[in-house]
Amino acid sequence: MHISSRRKVKIVGTLGPSSNTPEKIEKLIRSGLDTARLNFSHGTHEVHRDLFASVRMAAKNAGKHVGILQDLQGPKLRVGKIPAPGIDLKAGDEVLLFPEGTDPKSSLTGRIAIPISAEIAGPLSKDVRKGSRILFDDGKISSEVKEVHAPEMVVTVSVGGKLTSNKGMNLPGTPLSLPCATDKDLRDLKLGLELGVDSVALSFVRTPQDITFVKEQIRKNSNHHPLLVAKIEREEAVYAPEGILEVTDGILIARGDMAVELGAEKVPIIQKMLIRMSNELGVPVITATQMLESMISSPTPTRAEASDVANAVFDGTDAVMLSAESASGQYPVEAVETMARIICEAEGETRYSVHQNLIPVSGSIVDSIEFSASRIASHVGARAIACLTHSGTAARTLAKYRPEIPIVAIMDNEASLRKLAFVWGVEGVLIPELVATDDLFGMVGRTLVENQRAEEDDLIVVTAGTPSLGRGTTNTIKVHQIKNRTPVRGRN
Ligand code: PEP
Repeated sequence: MHISSRRKVKIVGTLGPSSNTPEKIEKLIRSGLDTARLNFSHGTHEVHRDLFASVRMAAKNAGKHVGILQDLQGPKLRVGKIPAPGIDLKAGDEVLLFPEGTDPKSSLTGRIAIPISAEIAGPLSKDVRKGSRILFDDGKISSEVKEVHAPEMVVTVSVGGKLTSNKGMNLPGTPLSLPCATDKDLRDLKLGLELGVDSVALSFVRTPQDITFVKEQIRKNSNHHPLLVAKIEREEAVYAPEGILEVTDGILIARGDMAVELGAEKVPIIQKMLIRMSNELGVPVITATQMLESMISSPTPTRAEASDVANAVFDGTDAVMLSAESASGQYPVEAVETMARIICEAEGETRYSVHQNLIPVSGSIVDSIEFSASRIASHVGARAIACLTHSGTAARTLAKYRPEIPIVAIMDNEASLRKLAFVWGVEGVLIPELVATDDLFGMVGRTLVENQRAEEDDLIVVTAGTPSLGRGTTNTIKVHQIKNRTPVRGRN
């Protein structure tokens, strides 16, 4: 029997017009997609409902436990409707920003009027000062605040360009008082909870309270508790991530807005810093944006893109993400295949990987057990480490120690198993029931053999909470040689 070598770093792919049917999504899954991202910056609830159902169907057909990540838009600042073909802004132009749906009160003589959402105009005009920078369209157009007459503002253009409807606005260096979860986000979250998404990403997180607020909303309104992922893109979060890492279930390095807010030259170092800090705490981290950007319109990546994906793997990321490449590009399947190939190649060359040599958190039993299991497995040359786990915590903790051999999470709850779909190295195996039996380790061995994770006579390392296998009881490590040839479901 051939046991295929499996990828450790996971692939998150954004869905959109290029990947919106069960058939197209199944192709992505078979090419290596581990988590599907629904981007709530675009699309109606109806579109997202359909995408959700398509992912679940495609995953079932492909026989894989694919996670669904709902990405909430957050307080993304945008200009309002600008009549086609847009406005040509030149350096030196004075622009009046006023709340959409109102008549400008400030004088318009010699000024260009641009509407911005009424919801953001008020708070924004209180946060900015004379001299604050306001960027438009991913930073392509740049301006400085000249006057503020709340809720209106006058800016002077410093770098011009054509501005069209709904383009994004960024205010680098200006702390914003806007809520992290907008009314739209809370409406979208309600849909996500109703559908049963596996994880929720929150955009423009600034403080730990942004995360705890949304967790509280989830707890109050639903019995379904997806993981919460903090998107790190604002300056406040980049330079004080410790508190956020303490309360979040994962982070997403949102390099797109981060580059506009802080400058593209800062992104590589911030990426390394955030991955290192997350790895140390065992917080899963997704590296995102423009990883294979040219594959939107080309079947092959640039050399720089191949290096970017490989370097994120070497840095220690848990997952890498595709945005427009899989959502609206011409080569979504090729993009996933390319990403998978680059990851495998990079993982085959461990000399360049960042090694952290972590030690367990003092007093934590599960941390000590999984740390030791990882060491023992490598000393005895085990084929795999199997974690018997209800919530997935044991497997997530083991992943922190980055063992070279496969981590197999044996679980009886598919929803919990899907929450591991962006965690480094964890492969999930679903069994009917996770209960203590006289032949527990024999059952584990047979399960691994049946699922092509090990072979007869292999040594495996098993971690479990004995004797009850109750929740949160991990306390045991067993080195086990697979001997029993009886199949797990009683076949001969
Ligand atoms: C980003 O800014 O890099 C990002 C991932 O967020 P979004 O796609 O929502 O802009």
